[in-house]
Amino acid sequence: MNSIVVHYQEIALKGRNRPWFIGRLVRNIRTATSDLDVKQVINKMGRIEVVLGSPAAWDPVAERLRHVFGIANFSLAGHVVLDVDVIAKAILDDLAALAELKVSTFRVSARRADKRFPLTSPQIEREVGGRIKEARGWTVNLDAPEFTIHVEALTGEAFYHFGKHPGPGGMPTGVSGRVVALLSGGIDSPVAMYRLMKRGCRVLPVHFHSYPILSRASQEKVRELVALLTRYQQHTRLYLVAFGDIQQQVMLTVAAPLRVVIYRRLMFRIAEGIARKAHAQALVTGEVIGQVASQTLENMTTIGAATTLPVFRPLIGMDKDEITAEAQRLGSYPISIIEDQDCCQLFTPKHPATKARPADVEEAERALPIDEFVRQAVESAAIEDFNFPVIKYPAKGNYGRSKC
Ligand code: ATP
Ligand code: MG
Repeated sequence: MNSIVVHYQEIALKGRNRPWFIGRLVRNIRTATSDLDVKQVINKMGRIEVVLGSPAAWDPVAERLRHVFGIANFSLAGHVVLDVDVIAKAILDDLAALAELKVSTFRVSARRADKRFPLTSPQIEREVGGRIKEARGWTVNLDAPEFTIHVEALTGEAFYHFGKHPGPGGMPTGVSGRVVALLSGGIDSPVAMYRLMKRGCRVLPVHFHSYPILSRASQEKVRELVALLTRYQQHTRLYLVAFGDIQQQVMLTVAAPLRVVIYRRLMFRIAEGIARKAHAQALVTGEVIGQVASQTLENMTTIGAATTLPVFRPLIGMDKDEITAEAQRLGSYPISIIEDQDCCQLFTPKHPATKARPADVEEAERALPIDEFVRQAVESAAIEDFNFPVIKYPAKGNYGRSKC
């Protein structure tokens, strides 16, 4: 078996945009497997064929496909001409190699993509199934078989396989445009970023740090998180914004209770400046209603009013333990809980306002050179590019962390 048949689900529904969606998925699969033994990735009548250089490539390629959004499921498959004798013989040869297979009941499940083929799906099932039954002595059980053999009949060719592996679902990276995510290094924001990536957005993370007032730890954490998440979108541009000087100036000018809201509004404005430069259309945060003082309904509204871009908060209604479970599944949790000094902890008062009124905040901001802060921060943001997989010798500033 030298092919992998990849099935997509949701993109099959996309009407006239369908070829474009599928084209993206094909391209993303090519990129995700570009350092592995893959000969071709081909769009074929409602599925995608990944042609392996050898059967040994299956394990590493399967591991990559589990991270390519838009894939519903995939199967290691045999590829033969569309002829029931040839299909049955190839299946029997492959079954002979499966020494550990101990079953007595089976069924063949066929799908026909090209309706011009004279045999219907049930007829293909009967023809192929009959030959296998005779050769192996198994009994057919249509309702609860111990083993299912899948046959997919295309034009002049067919695939067969013995089971499906789940893909990550979602939509292919790039089909939904670009967004900027505010990535803090905490537990929530990497999960929020993942959610948008899963829906086909290319996510550009922005991290605000207070180096050199605080250590570089938060930046290191964010790099680790971005390296992890880049497996899913293959290329990530990270923006690192020095925020310490701005925070100090806010501290000197603004009354303690309003500071958190004003830091966040500044973050939103700077993130918007970066988004506009990078042609991104929305901001993403890991905010959750009621989790901390800056996340009351009133404060979130006042913070959100600092930008004219839409702000997506995919975790808004989740409990901490639900977010933690997702972070654990994703693998971001162990990185997020590493001790660091978050830029906001240092400058955060003990009792921030929980209902900061827009008029008070605007009044306080009039004493600050907001536009200048934003212009400077956007211009001086450091950019780091992450790639997965890393194929060429990594250039300076390339933090691709491929293990291959
Ligand atoms: P997280 O676990 O994502 O840090 P949190 O529960 O600690 O979230 P806050 O600290 O109030 O909540 O932050 C709310 C959101 O603001 C974060 O989810 C993130 O999107 C953004 N944010 C906070 N601090 C930073 C930062 N230093 N850099 C970038 N974004 C930040
Ligand atoms: Mg945080």
